[in-house]
Amino acid sequence: MATDASTAAAAVNVRRDFPHFINGAFVPSASGKTFENRSPLDGSLIGLVSEGGKAEVDAAVAAARAALDGPWGKMPVAKRVELLYALADEINRRFDDFLAAEIADTGKPASLAAHIDIPRGAANFKIFADVIKNVPSETFEMATPDGGEALNYAVRVPRGVIAVVCPWNLPLLLMTWKVGPALACGNAVVVKPSEETPATATLLGEVMNKVGIPKGVYNVVHGLGPNSAGEFLTSHRGVNAITFTGETRTGEAIMGAASKGLRPVSFELGGKNAGLVFADADFDAAVEGIARAAFVNCGQVCLGTERVYVQRPIFEKFVAALKLKAEAMKPGLPYEKSTGIGPLISQEHLGKVLSYYGKAKAEGATLVTGGGVPDMPAELKGGSWVQPTIWTGLPETATVIREEIFGPCCHIAPFDTEDEVVALANDTPYGLCTTVWTQDLSRAHRIAKRIDVGLCWINSWFLRDLRTPFGGSKQSGIGREGGVHSLEFYTELRNVCIKYA
Ligand code: NAD
Repeated sequence: MATDASTAAAAVNVRRDFPHFINGAFVPSASGKTFENRSPLDGSLIGLVSEGGKAEVDAAVAAARAALDGPWGKMPVAKRVELLYALADEINRRFDDFLAAEIADTGKPASLAAHIDIPRGAANFKIFADVIKNVPSETFEMATPDGGEALNYAVRVPRGVIAVVCPWNLPLLLMTWKVGPALACGNAVVVKPSEETPATATLLGEVMNKVGIPKGVYNVVHGLGPNSAGEFLTSHRGVNAITFTGETRTGEAIMGAASKGLRPVSFELGGKNAGLVFADADFDAAVEGIARAAFVNCGQVCLGTERVYVQRPIFEKFVAALKLKAEAMKPGLPYEKSTGIGPLISQEHLGKVLSYYGKAKAEGATLVTGGGVPDMPAELKGGSWVQPTIWTGLPETATVIREEIFGPCCHIAPFDTEDEVVALANDTPYGLCTTVWTQDLSRAHRIAKRIDVGLCWINSWFLRDLRTPFGGSKQSGIGREGGVHSLEFYTELRNVCIKYA
């Protein structure tokens, strides 16, 4: 069935099949195995994705290794920087193709993908080109015991072959967030995109060839996780380091694989983020901010807010205002101007989110709005649509307050004191981010110090300067990426010590 997204995808230069991209060439699996890529808008078939096995992973890792041993490994930084700029420019030149590809896979509103996914996907190459061009290295002079001197200097060398394992919620953006710095630092990559979103990673292969990135530097092997391309790649001993964004449970499995051969990992994992709204906050800005944090991208943002705490004097007013925001988000097709929210990524994820909606009801939540599936036109009934949902009245032990749902929903609870709300916010095994709304500057600084998270937004949410450290505390991640922090993972520091008389 043709929807406006699939029609748009067909109208521009977007692939309808999804082969691997290995050593600069698009290739099917040797086994001929494929799986389906279906539109979340209506369940229609977008195309068939090649499922990679050990043979494809072996070939991709070998191609990456050969690239490191070839011209890519010898290329001066200035030339790499030039190529990364060209990559960003070419993504922007093919903006509509990338937009259509991302929208076909995810069904997200074009306004969102055109504002965040594609421009940020391109920008990730430029920012890390700039970082690698400008980063200094340290030197130390020392006296030697025999009365001479020595000079120490550190050089950054690439780690080698990096496995990049990606999720489906912001496919191009989150992939290039890793591929950008990996290539800037001189590594070669093997990317395993999410099985739900194969399109933009495949399309990027065309861009790599167009701008002249040497073959084998960027490889894509499609497939699933366990007993498929994901597991084969992360357990492959030719891989020198693994960077992964996805669920905490998957991170545990990958860490197990990485322990064989002691390969380093960088993990950006799940969250159960809290939003804190104080009575002194700019009310309208807080409502707007929490509405975005809870519902944007249909709630499928790792940084999203599923636990909202509002100071008691404004609690009722806040719940009423957020309800209006949720109800104003009209579900619809990606290119329609009135569309406020797209579908979830898949029927499987819809089932998961609806099971949490059921648990909230069973555990005694007061349903403020939503709680089910919206009434969609007949041609979209096969899509993964779900209502933005707000609950109140649950104890902190309730399932929807403890577990990450990854849907457009939140629970709102009242609080009285700063100490109380800090304790509530920290009472989770996760520690990705928080968003705090207050006009009291002293309180903002105090809270930022006491919240156990990697990212603390005050009077804002998802405001990103790509030079800043990004990552989660506790079970939300290992390591930080962004700006110079990415260099810690994508390079090894080698100290050179020269003794002279
Ligand atoms: P997921 O963990 O199910 O899958 C992510 C990737 O891992 C996919 O490519 C999948 O095929 C692969 N995979 C699965 N099992 C594997 C295994 N055993 N070995 C190797 N690879 C395997 O995550 P998802 O559902 O795609 O994404 C949603 C999750 O990602 C949420 O938990 C969300 O919070 C998290 N996330 C975190 C961040 C962050 O920056 N912290 C950003 C986006 C998403």
